[in-house]
Amino acid sequence: MEDIEDIPKFWFKNDAYMKRRGAPVMLIVRCAECNAYVMSYQKDGPGPLLRCYLDRIHHPENLEKRQYELFQKKTALKLACPVCHVVIGSPFIYEKEDRSAYHLRLGFFVSERIY
Ligand SMILES: [Zn+2]
Repeated sequence: MEDIEDIPKFWFKNDAYMKRRGAPVMLIVRCAECNAYVMSYQKDGPGPLLRCYLDRIHHPENLEKRQYELFQKKTALKLACPVCHVVIGSPFIYEKEDRSAYHLRLGFFVSERIY
């Protein structure tokens, strides 16, 4: 399991999405079941974390790369804990922005703001 100290720091992506939603924060998302590190995620603007956009995943590399791969609701990989494999999010396209995303399953993850 990765310690928070071992996770690299990232620059916030600053684009039209961010400008629309507001100041970003960096979150560490962990599995609620086993506490494993799942990802470093940039959340733009206030409010609870209900979905996550692939283009806001900064780490780990295998998840960060998914934004560049073919993404279709029916065939895309789910977002799962790398250790216990519990499903944390299901793929969907956020139609308003035509943006690849995961619907997060409340109660299956915990998030912590790190900066
Ligand atoms: Zn887990």
